[in-house]
Amino acid sequence: MSLKIVNGWLQGVKQVISPFYNDRPSDKPISLLVIHNISLPPNQFGGPYVEQLFTGQLDPNEHPYFADIYQIQVSSHLFIRRDGEIIQFVAFDKRAWHAGISAFEGQENCNDFSIGIELEGCDSEKFTEVQYQQLAKVTLLLQQTYPLNNITGHSDIAPERKTDPGPYFDWQYYRHLLANKMQANLIKDQLERIEQALKKIDLWQALPPSQDAFLSQQPFALDTMKSYEWLQWIFIPRIRAIIDANSAIPPFALHPYFEEALKESENNIDHLLDLIKQLDELTQSK
Ligand SMILES: [Zn+2]
Repeated sequence: MSLKIVNGWLQGVKQVISPFYNDRPSDKPISLLVIHNISLPPNQFGGPYVEQLFTGQLDPNEHPYFADIYQIQVSSHLFIRRDGEIIQFVAFDKRAWHAGISAFEGQENCNDFSIGIELEGCDSEKFTEVQYQQLAKVTLLLQQTYPLNNITGHSDIAPERKTDPGPYFDWQYYRHLLANKMQANLIKDQLERIEQALKKIDLWQALPPSQDAFLSQQPFALDTMKSYEWLQWIFIPRIRAIIDANSAIPPFALHPYFEEALKESENNIDHLLDLIKQLDELTQSK
């Protein structure tokens, strides 16, 4: 699923409008992402209660714990369930009420300048893989859309009161996923540039080589394809598939081969070779 934000709302996810929001102060750009965990009743997953709390509809009679909290006015921008489902309650450009009394690097009232994401979870259990995947995907999109320059946990901005996202939130893994997805995006863009460059010098083909050519066992299908055919029909689709599958992109070095293979070319290949070199570097710089 590729995500997009329009007017502060993530497209293609469930929207449940919370009444608990207001305007952000105009002089405070959105600069911080705050990660939380929540489960209602505590440590129980899958119920409708978080949605009910964030919309003021929690029934105090349904569980003893709810009687204490049903009147609290809280919300977050996003809630990511154990199965990866994302629910948005408040537009990102509005102030959701997730942080409470808080301070980040001396700036108080973090709600003013932060986006809050709640993960369905607790302080004593691991989060799910798909939650990390969704969180990383959303984080990258938010970073591209808003001037976010920090990511923190609720417990870091309200250490006296809060413990979430808790010891089971794996910050290292989350940052690793962010770096991988960032790299994947850069590589995707670079493949697009290479495709355009091939088209510009008429080396992008409308029809694939014969099926036999694809059976080559040689590196770069040396014995059956031209270098640019291999690039178009084998390499680029393979890397795009790896990216779409969220798999790790192996480091590679295409430039030496292409420099050699294209040196007799009558086309203007300098730009293409530069792009291929940059592509190599993107996979080697980790
Ligand atoms: Zn929290």
